[in-house]
Parts: sequence; structure tokens; C-alpha cells
Amino acid sequence: MVQSFTPPRRRLMGPGPTMVHPRVLEASSRPTIGHLDPAFAGLMDEVKFLLKYAFRTQNALTLPVSAPGSAGMEMCFVNLVEPEDKVIVCVNGVFGGRMKANVERAGGTAVVVESPWGTPVDPAAVEQALDRHPDARIVAFVHAETSTGALSDAKSIAALARGRGALVIVDAVTSLGGVPLLVDEWGLDAVYSGSQKCLSGMPGLSPVTFGEAALERVRARRTPVNSWFLDLTLVMGYWDAEGGRSYHHTAPVNAIYALHEALVMLHEEGLENAWQRHRDAHDRLVAGLDALGLELLVEEAARLPQLNAVKIPQGVDDAAVRRDLLQRFDLEIGPGLGDLAGKIWRIGLMGESARPENVDYCLDALKTVLGGRLNCAA
Ligand SMILES: *Cc1c(COP(=O)(O)O)cnc(C)c1O
Repeated sequence: MVQSFTPPRRRLMGPGPTMVHPRVLEASSRPTIGHLDPAFAGLMDEVKFLLKYAFRTQNALTLPVSAPGSAGMEMCFVNLVEPEDKVIVCVNGVFGGRMKANVERAGGTAVVVESPWGTPVDPAAVEQALDRHPDARIVAFVHAETSTGALSDAKSIAALARGRGALVIVDAVTSLGGVPLLVDEWGLDAVYSGSQKCLSGMPGLSPVTFGEAALERVRARRTPVNSWFLDLTLVMGYWDAEGGRSYHHTAPVNAIYALHEALVMLHEEGLENAWQRHRDAHDRLVAGLDALGLELLVEEAARLPQLNAVKIPQGVDDAAVRRDLLQRFDLEIGPGLGDLAGKIWRIGLMGESARPENVDYCLDALKTVLGGRLNCAA
């Protein structure tokens, strides 16, 4: 007999999704209404207002794409990159590599600026690349590299790009709501994020924001956007009251209720307070890891508070530890990706997960699970 599904109760402390507050879960279970209902149009406007607050932007074109963060990424690249365009792509982890793939699939030429995994993007290397490629039309980088836990200097990189007339595309999937991200002040042209990281919404939506310079670039395209679903000019007609809210696709109505509630909670808390809460949780975690004799991958100055890459001690079985944490403690932490597989664990302190009780729970569980495996641990 097939029965309804009851998930186990997990404490989510990996790279996302994160813990979802009961208020957000409750909001998502409210009655579905039509996506062209005037009441839903009012909700869309409020979501846009709240996203502008979270992104620190006045950009009119700020909305959630009806698909996960990867779709927001594609939206930025398919709209802004045309065949033959040269794009400087900074790669210091998994997600920078995906940006490169996006440029190439859009027919562009990627000029890769590589930085070692676990370090931030090097602005001096970006400047050199701009010197060598004055015809580069875009600079793309990941603000918060979730695969390594490194935070890059978005403000400096954006200033370099702007100085040469290049647009910037920024992956802010893990940074939005967790660390300062000042879209207007830093002059970020196209930015994409996700609902299930520091916003602690449910997975499945990708907040994006586009500035005027980016929109001008889209309007001036020589070729049509090579995606129907993600073509900005079409999506705008749906999300924009001035566009007449013409039917484009059916919005995931209940998922939007959930995102709205998560954003209302962020607004109630205050963005700066949310940033501070992530930092406090991080400091608490680092102190506890230190007491257990565990080290972080990223040097202090570039550490993301919301994603902590912890070096796996010599001789400790990565998968067995994560399995024990899940089975005995209902605790999920993330594995290393790519070159860092088997070398690090990724402990996420994102959104609702960034609370002292979760940090303490995680440290206690790690201590118990590692106790039998480590000689040096306390
Ligand atoms: C999670 C993540 C993505 C992809 O988001 P999905 O919602 O999984 O599609 C992209 N970039 C970064 C930095 C991420 O952490």
C-alpha cells in the first residue's frame, strides 16, 4: 500500500536547505488562490518590496524566479550574454565553475580567473584580466562560495568592472540575508539568490534583481534570448503591474506564500540583526570546534559565517561520521564537493539554523560521534 509521506525530523545544518520556521510552513499550507487573482497580485507586490529590502536595492526588476537558485543563475546568463561576448568568470569553487558553463552555453567566451579553493577571488587577478581583455563585457563571480566557505570582496570586484564599463553578475545564493550584500551601493548589475539558504524559506524559488544598465543590455540584444521561460522581457510582463500581469506561467502560489512569510520574518528581525545573528552563531561554532581540536579550511578574514568548511582529521571516515550524525542525532551536515570531497565537512549556519541552540547541539553531537574516532579530541 502506498501511503502519505511523513519525513523524519531533521536538524538541517548543511549547505541548504535550512531549517524552515513553523510560521513559514504554516503559511505554505493556506488555501491556494488563482495566480491572477487580485489578492495574489497584491502579494506579488509585497514580495517584490520585501526582496528589494533584503537585496538593499531600488531595482524595479526584483522578483523570485519560479525555480531554484540554478534557474536564477541561468536567467542572468541567458539574458546578458550574447554569442561572441567575452565574460571574465572568477572560479574559486564549484559554483564559479557553473558560471563558466553558463557563459559557454550562451555562446560566450569565458576568460577564467582562477583562485585556489578555500580562498576568496583575488581582485588583483580580476584587474589583470580586465587589462588583458579590455573588450570583456561582463565580470561574473560568486559572492559566497558555498562549496568552500569563502567570502569574496564583491564591492571591490564590482568597482573594477564598472571602471572598465563591464557589467557584473553576482551569485548571492548563500550571501543574501546572511552577510552584508548591498546591491545598489556596490553597483551590482544582475544578482541571483535562493529561497532555501539564509532566507530559510522552502527550496524552489530564486530571488533575482536587475539594475538599469543590465536591462539596457538586454534591450540592445542583437539576438533573441535563447530560453523562453527565462526571457526577462517576457517574465517582466507577468511580474510587473505596468506589464499588465499577462499570463506567462502559473506561479507556485503556495511557495510564494512561504517566501513572503520568510521575508516578513527577516523584515521583523531587521537585516542588520540577521547578519549579526549569523556572525554570533559562527563565533560560537568556531570556539567549540577549536575546543574539539578541529580546524577550518578558510583563513579567518575570508570566512563565511553561514558556511563553515571544517577539515576532516586524518584517519576519520567522512561518510561514517555523517551517517552517525544523521542516524543518531537527526543532524545533517554537508560533505565536501569536487576536490574537497572527503577532505572537509560543511556546517551550515544559515537562516533559522543560525541559532545558539543549534550550534551547541551540533558541537555536542560531533563530540560524541568523534569521541570514539579521535585520540586528540576532548
Ligand atoms: C545552492 C547554491 C546554488 C544553487 O542553488 P539551487 O537552489 O540548488 O539551484 C548556486 N550557487 C550557490 C553559491 C549556492 O550555494
